[in-house]
Amino acid sequence: MGNHRADHRSPARAVVDTTPSGAARPVGGRRKATRRQSQANPFRKIPAVPTIVGAVAIVAAAGGALGVGGGELQAGQNLALSSGAADSFSGTDAFNFSGADARSVAISRDSSRQALEDAANKQTEAAVEEVAQQRNSELQSLAGLAQKRADQIAKNLWVLPTVGYHLTARFGQSSGLWSRNHTGLDFAAPSGTPIYAIANGVITSTGYDGAYGNKTVETLADGTEIWYCHQSEIGVTVGQKVVQSTQIGRVGSSGNVTGPHVHIEVRPGGGDPVDPYPAFIYHGVTP
Ligand SMILES: [Zn+2]
Repeated sequence: MGNHRADHRSPARAVVDTTPSGAARPVGGRRKATRRQSQANPFRKIPAVPTIVGAVAIVAAAGGALGVGGGELQAGQNLALSSGAADSFSGTDAFNFSGADARSVAISRDSSRQALEDAANKQTEAAVEEVAQQRNSELQSLAGLAQKRADQIAKNLWVLPTVGYHLTARFGQSSGLWSRNHTGLDFAAPSGTPIYAIANGVITSTGYDGAYGNKTVETLADGTEIWYCHQSEIGVTVGQKVVQSTQIGRVGSSGNVTGPHVHIEVRPGGGDPVDPYPAFIYHGVTP
């Protein structure tokens, strides 16, 4: 077992030098590699524990109080106990340990070191667990946002075709103006008001079309045709790809109208027109 472990670790020994505190350091002094290793293992973040314990034990011995068990100090508490204090002791020679005193100190060091290491390990484990839970929570939150965005794309949300309008004629209304019931939704706005693509698509028809006046047809990804009619100006050409909110023309009074407006038709699959109003609602906007 021991041999197996030694064999197993031998490649690592070939490239690193083990310091007395147990922290591995690369022989070549490549600090970057060492830091990466310590980040990978959070339990390596507490190398100061043995150093502190060592300083406590030595300080206690110097002050004459050898009851160091449990980490309590009877005397010598006026001396600095930071890990940096260990550096100020050049070595144990200066303290003239007798044999019995040295053994007692060594035993106290072992027991208190173990107690502190256990406590530190528990604290570190709790901290790691907390970080893991926090990260898990963040990932769930991100997944939620991604799902929401995916839902929006799937719903294919639309925008309104113009601004500063009021609705003047609904789908299905009858009037002496039309040979049959109204086939679209009318957004009345001053002549020249921009008309915007309500969704991403490609322009499949432009030009004058009798009662419809200047008409642009945009075909959406799902095959639905959107007709924009009565324009004073057409700003796109057939085959042009447009993204939602791109200006494609201007409101006008061309064709059979009583005033400037953009007449919107929605034709699923390029077939018969359906009521645009619920179609807008379905796609997330209220005209
Ligand atoms: Zn109309």
